[in-house]
Amino acid sequence: MGIQEQYRTDAANLLDSGAVKLVIGYGEGSTPERRRPIFIRSAEEVGRLVLDANCIANLSAYLVPEGLLSDGKSVAVFLKPDGIRSVNILAAEAQLNPEQVVILGFNIDAGLANPLPGRKANEFAPLLASLKSAGLSTDLQREADRLEQMTAVERFEYWKEQFSKCIKCYACRQVCPMCYCRRCIVDVNQPQWVNTSSHTLGNFEWNIIRAYHLAGRCVACGGCDRACPVNIPLRLLNHRMSKEALDTFDHFAGESADQKPVLATFRQDDPETFIL
Ligand code: SF4
Ligand code: SF4
Repeated sequence: MGIQEQYRTDAANLLDSGAVKLVIGYGEGSTPERRRPIFIRSAEEVGRLVLDANCIANLSAYLVPEGLLSDGKSVAVFLKPDGIRSVNILAAEAQLNPEQVVILGFNIDAGLANPLPGRKANEFAPLLASLKSAGLSTDLQREADRLEQMTAVERFEYWKEQFSKCIKCYACRQVCPMCYCRRCIVDVNQPQWVNTSSHTLGNFEWNIIRAYHLAGRCVACGGCDRACPVNIPLRLLNHRMSKEALDTFDHFAGESADQKPVLATFRQDDPETFIL
């Protein structure tokens, strides 16, 4: 049995047994290579589930809408390792109870979707530890290195050009599992903290504020990059913050549900070079 059939059967069993009230998975999209999130509530519907190498979106973002888990019932969700890391962060930040999340885990390797053993986030700890040891994504690292080699002025010009394209659509925020605030600071207009017009200053404010809010929290799922209609390489910015968190504080976002937020905790042995 292929992974798709296996997971359809698993989903049907979970729903039939009452172990979960909902399965969040992937269905056919608008083109053959696209997949879209679907929400399955009965075993009769599991034939709509698709699982292949085109299932790249991080579906953990659908776990946090207000009220979904407030009845104490469980939800099953298809997740790659980046999504499992997101669940850990959401648990660490008290946005969900990981006991209510049944993970239908998979990874994509050599153009194929492969099953990951485990059902609860804590069962994936060895996998996440191995990802931490492997370091941050190498394809991103190459482009990040190119930016690092620039002078500060050249880098500023690079980001100024990128941010000048931003139309403040907030698609990057909407797709991100870590951007769960009920009311984002940029939507507050009394007082208005961040200019909503899409001009250079306002665009810098928005994108830099978001990058800082994601410091040590981004799981590199790439959702923001894919959602951005003007192709701003947002993951590069968040990758830089992830690298800082890893190199300086040994913090790999979402490694476990007990992990303390890197910018909200203090250790006696934390480096303090910034105040020297
Ligand atoms: S910032 Fe982008 S890459 Fe990072 S978790 Fe959010 S959507 Fe994913
Ligand atoms: S998705 Fe792109 S264009 Fe839209 S707000 Fe984010 S950075 Fe700006």
